[in-house]
Amino acid sequence: MTRRVPYLNSRLQGLGTTVFATMSALAEETGAVNLGQGYPDYDGPPAVLEAARTAIAAGYNQYPPGRGVPTLRQAIADHQQRFYGLTYDPDREVLVTAGATEALAASILSLCEVGDEILAFEPYYDGYPALAAMAGAIPRFVPLRPPRWDFDPDELARSVTPRTRLILVNTPHNPTGKVFDQDELSAIAALCIEHGLIAVTDEVYEHLVFDGVHRPLASFEGMRDRTVTISSAAKTFSVTGWKIGWACASASLLEAVLTAKQFLTYAGGTPFQHAIAVGLGMGTEATEPVRDDLRSRRDQLCEGLERLGFEVAKPASGYFALSEVCEPWSDATQFCAEAPRRWGVVAIPAGVFFTHQDLGARLIRWAFCKRASTLQEALRRLAPLAEMT
Ligand code: PMP
Ligand code: GLN
Repeated sequence: MTRRVPYLNSRLQGLGTTVFATMSALAEETGAVNLGQGYPDYDGPPAVLEAARTAIAAGYNQYPPGRGVPTLRQAIADHQQRFYGLTYDPDREVLVTAGATEALAASILSLCEVGDEILAFEPYYDGYPALAAMAGAIPRFVPLRPPRWDFDPDELARSVTPRTRLILVNTPHNPTGKVFDQDELSAIAALCIEHGLIAVTDEVYEHLVFDGVHRPLASFEGMRDRTVTISSAAKTFSVTGWKIGWACASASLLEAVLTAKQFLTYAGGTPFQHAIAVGLGMGTEATEPVRDDLRSRRDQLCEGLERLGFEVAKPASGYFALSEVCEPWSDATQFCAEAPRRWGVVAIPAGVFFTHQDLGARLIRWAFCKRASTLQEALRRLAPLAEMT
C-alpha cells in the first residue's frame, strides 16, 4: 500500500516518488555503482558541448521564443525530412519543449478531457500513468509479452472504448529495448484511423537502435496529421540534463499542445537550444558514434551478467537490459533492495513499469549507458553472485 500524501490532490495520490530518484539517492547514500536511472556518466559529442559554451558566450541567455529558437525548429524539421521523409513547417508544426517530458505532458493535458481514456502498452515509461492522472485521464495498458515483447492486435482493438482519445506509443521502447516493426505499427495506424484516435509517440531513443530500423508512426499512411511525434536531445547527444525536447505535428494539433506548453515552462534552455541545432545539423556524424559506443556497452553488460548466471536478452535499442532475477532470489524488488548494500550496485526492479506488477516481478532493469570502466566495476562487485547461482 502506498502512503497517503497530505495536501496532495486525490488524482495524484498513490504515485509515490519516482523510482529513478529513489534509486539514485540510494546509490549516492551507499556509494553503489548506479545502473538504475538512465543517464550517461560520459559526455556527448564535443562539438555539441562546445556549441553550448559558444551560445552562452554569445549572449543567448534570455527567454527564447515560446515555440523555440528558429534555428532549432528548422534543424528539427530538416531532421524529420532527412531521416524519415516527413515534412513539417518549422514555424507552425514544430515546438521545442523542456525535454520529451514536457512535450508528453502538454500533449496529454491539451488533448484529453477528464475521463478520456489513453491506450498504451505495458511495460511503460513511469511518467505515463502520472501524466494521465494529472490530466484526469484513464490509462488502459495492453501487455507486451516476452520474449519478443509483442502485443496481440485483437487485444489492442478490444481495449478501444467510446472514451478512448489517444494512443501513446513508445518506440524504441523503455524498458524492453523493443523497436516496433512495420507490421505492428501498421496495425496501430489502422486502429487509429478506424476509431479516429490521435497518436502521441515517444521516440526519444530513435538514434540508439542497434538491431532493426526505427520508423515513426507518423510516416504511415493516414497518420501524419493525427500524430504528435515527440523526441528529445537527451539520449541522442548524451545530454540528459539539458532537457531539450520537441514535438512535431499538424498545425492544429500543435496549436493545442502549445496552448498547454506555454503555461507549463513557457520556454527555456536558450543556449542549449542553439547547441542542439548544431548537433542535429551534424547528422549521423554526431549520432552514430554515440550509438556505436553504446552497442559495445550493451554487449559488455549483457555478456557480463550472463557469465554471472543471469538470463538476459540483448536489447535491440536504448539504454537498458532486462534480466531475470537470479537464483536464489525469486523477487526482483527484494534483489534490488538488497543489491546496493550487499554488492554495491543499484538496478531497478522492473515491476514499477507494469500495472500488473506480477508481470515484471522477476525482472531487473540494468542501465548500460555508462563508461566501460563503470560497467566493469559493477560486474566485479556482482562477481560473488556467480558462486551463489
Ligand atoms: N520517454 C522515455 C521513454 C524516456 O526513457 C525518457 C527518459 N529520458 C523520457 C521520455 C524523458 O525524456 P526527457 O529527459 O527528454 O524529458
Ligand atoms: N528515462 C530515465 C530512465 O528511464 C529516467 C528519467 C527520469 O528520471 N525521469 O531511467
